[in-house]
Amino acid sequence: VASLREEDPEIAAAIDAELHRQSTTLEMIASENFTSPAVMEAQGSVLTNKYAEGYPGSRYYGGCEHVDRVEQLALDRIRDLFGAEAANVQPHSGAQANAAALMALLEPGETILGLDLAHGGHLTHGMRLNFSGRLYHVVSYGVEEGDHRIDMEEVARLAREHRPRVIIAGWSAYPRQLAFAAFREIADEVGAWLMVDMAHFAGLVAAGLHPSPVPYADVVTTTTHKTLGGPRGGVILSRESLAKKINSAVFPGQQGGPLEHVIAAKAVAFQHAGSAAFRDRQERTLSGAQILAGRLSEPDVASTGIRLVSGGTDVHLVLVDLRDAELDGRQAEDRLHEIGITVNRNAVPFDPRPPKISSGLRIGTPALAARGFGDEEFAEVADLIAVALAPQLTDGELAELRDRVAALAARFPLYPHLEPAIEE
Ligand code: PLP
Repeated sequence: VASLREEDPEIAAAIDAELHRQSTTLEMIASENFTSPAVMEAQGSVLTNKYAEGYPGSRYYGGCEHVDRVEQLALDRIRDLFGAEAANVQPHSGAQANAAALMALLEPGETILGLDLAHGGHLTHGMRLNFSGRLYHVVSYGVEEGDHRIDMEEVARLAREHRPRVIIAGWSAYPRQLAFAAFREIADEVGAWLMVDMAHFAGLVAAGLHPSPVPYADVVTTTTHKTLGGPRGGVILSRESLAKKINSAVFPGQQGGPLEHVIAAKAVAFQHAGSAAFRDRQERTLSGAQILAGRLSEPDVASTGIRLVSGGTDVHLVLVDLRDAELDGRQAEDRLHEIGITVNRNAVPFDPRPPKISSGLRIGTPALAARGFGDEEFAEVADLIAVALAPQLTDGELAELRDRVAALAARFPLYPHLEPAIEE
């Protein structure tokens, strides 16, 4: 049996290089995380060989007795974790979870009301080029210009005017908690379904550190790979009365055979998400974001025109507002990349720059918390970022920042059991 290294050295080398990159830099893309070795082992298992169209106990293929057990465990665990009546763990991604959920709730041409992409919404909440923008009539709500909070008065006004079939609450770049009860009231008033996309904050909800949308929403979708810390994938939670429609929208509506190896990895992650260790990690995630927001609000940073969208954060990320700063989003992203910190540039509300450049940075703490960072390390990272975002830095200053990043990364080995591969 040939190893990957023997059979395909080119791919093996690229994987080794990626492991090296992940180990030696500081990952602060807010939607990323590090899976555990157990999650990766499940995902790399023989389950990848199995076809299993259908659902546990009701498949279109033979030989499904073991994958049935895997999928049932994943279902039971995620229902328990979030106190949901029904679940579907088959969506291959967050986008497919949203596509299936919307397919179950409304017909093409009907109206959805979601957060504007430019104000922190996701592509699947109605962006023009996305399936959601092409299939449905889209009305978008935004945040207020002053405090950058979602304007619930505006949500209510738009809902009354446009009578959407589905209201979507959820975000990819919004540093505050959502008012689920107010969304529910508006949905009830206009006779809409309420769908919450908790992709970003699901891990915080699982740990009991963020209000749960489950009691308020008809449908809750999530990815499994962001704060939740599992393999890349999606999940749909719903009321029992919607379960049949949702199952049929996932398969055969949107997908063919489920990825049972990924579902096994999801199950491993869902079990871990109920543990004290997971809660501790989510606490460090939140605390890290507070430390970062605090440091980036200090006078030496504020005096360079750098602000925070909404003035701070309640979640695992901060959105840096560079509209009045010298660096634009792309330059700031490049600057941090140069010293070994990975983030993504992001539009901020009312951004005058085009999305490819943008005036914001989205910086998240989940991956570093997974790596073991606590308050002391987050204070060091926050200071590194604060100093790195100065308008001008000399080569010597940059080199010093790079050394500090490398030293911090070296203190927290990422996957020690895999490292020998890259040291050979
Ligand atoms: N929903 C939200 C709120 C997201 O932020 C994302 C990913 O960025 C998705 C859905 C889509 O997830 P995926 O990239 O797995 O399709």
